[in-house]
Amino acid sequence: MNIKILPCVAFAGVMALAVMGNSSYAGDAMPTPALYSQLETFHGHVCAGSIFGARLGLAAKEALKEAGGTGKFTARYYDLSCPVDGIQVAAGTTYGNKALTVQERDEHRLVLTATGNKRAVEARLTKKAEELGLKSRDLGKKAKALPADAPERVKLEREIEDIYAWLKTAPTGEVVSITHFPSSKGSK
Ligand SMILES: [Zn+2]
Repeated sequence: MNIKILPCVAFAGVMALAVMGNSSYAGDAMPTPALYSQLETFHGHVCAGSIFGARLGLAAKEALKEAGGTGKFTARYYDLSCPVDGIQVAAGTTYGNKALTVQERDEHRLVLTATGNKRAVEARLTKKAEELGLKSRDLGKKAKALPADAPERVKLEREIEDIYAWLKTAPTGEVVSITHFPSSKGSK
């Protein structure tokens, strides 16, 4: 009896550790801290846009997998800006492997298509996430205009950090909204 129980206990322990360290994928399409540091290296700075890309990319990938999408996944994004790097890192669809195309339409919208059975999902930011992204950008501009050691600047930078922390770790449903398409022709 004990022998049967033991593996479960060990497994539960591992799960608890993973959750505490916030380093496991818990089925919520949540990027890990490791992914975020990889993204920071790749992208060259921390910003709301690249975090958005990671959230959109991972949420879309997991949603498409859950929907039974088969074959190679290809991504299309509608704005050439910071989120593109987050998508490349989180969804694994890169410009170099020809799995990513970008169209300039000024829309933060990702369409991920499964080439095998033409299933597709569209991922967009929620209103809350979008507003916080804009806010972090405004605060950043204000902070840069102040001397580096000004208490007001330190306060603004802390506020920006808080926004990034939320964008990174909030439940996927609060950051990303997903729409499923029966076919790949989600957009022209
Ligand atoms: Zn950026």
